[in-house]
Amino acid sequence: MHTCACCLPRRAVVAGLTAIVASLGFGLGRARADSAAPVSRVLTPDQAVAMLVAGNQRYLSRKPQVCSVDLAALREATADKQTPFAAVLSCSDSRVPAELVFDQTIGDLFVARVAGNIVSADVIASLEYGAEVLGTRAIMVLGHAKCGAVKAAIEGKAVPGQISTLFHSLQPAVEAGGRDLTKAIQANARIQAGLLRDSSPVLADLIRRKKLVVVAGYYELVSGRVSVLG
Ligand SMILES: [Zn+2]
Repeated sequence: MHTCACCLPRRAVVAGLTAIVASLGFGLGRARADSAAPVSRVLTPDQAVAMLVAGNQRYLSRKPQVCSVDLAALREATADKQTPFAAVLSCSDSRVPAELVFDQTIGDLFVARVAGNIVSADVIASLEYGAEVLGTRAIMVLGHAKCGAVKAAIEGKAVPGQISTLFHSLQPAVEAGGRDLTKAIQANARIQAGLLRDSSPVLADLIRRKKLVVVAGYYELVSGRVSVLG
């Protein structure tokens, strides 16, 4: 039986959505193509994280399901409304494309990218919009192996232009990592996740009401695996 989520009958989308996405681990973009309901809001934060993990497993399996999605239909279905189920704060690094890594498609993820996946006022504002207005149930701060921004911050060498403005935000992770790049990268993901939890009253309130979870993750470039750091 063909069970691709983009082919789910309209009735099933709303009636059994939680069970469907839990069993398939699927993003909601395809299901939403048949429904105007803000379906991401039926998910719990833990289910949203589980969907990211399940998507990464599909990516690792070399059988990503987004390849079978009708992108034209999704563009049309999401043109007037978006209800992404999760947000990702990732590095700008070209080797870490969030939608591919989590096997998601149009309308599934609200993504903020900046070198070193660091938190700033602009990033907080963006993620507040994603969570409070659009209803994302999880935010993952995704560090990655061999992050050039963290590496440069550890080395502390002179860099051109305004690149060094990143270093101040990365310094606590550099100190936590003790010049070990991988430790510093993982510490940075945890530190930035903590900043999101603590520095935004909007996000903190959603977390308190169990409408949102903020987690740190680590992406291994060669294997493609995402580890949830907590
Ligand atoms: Zn990076």
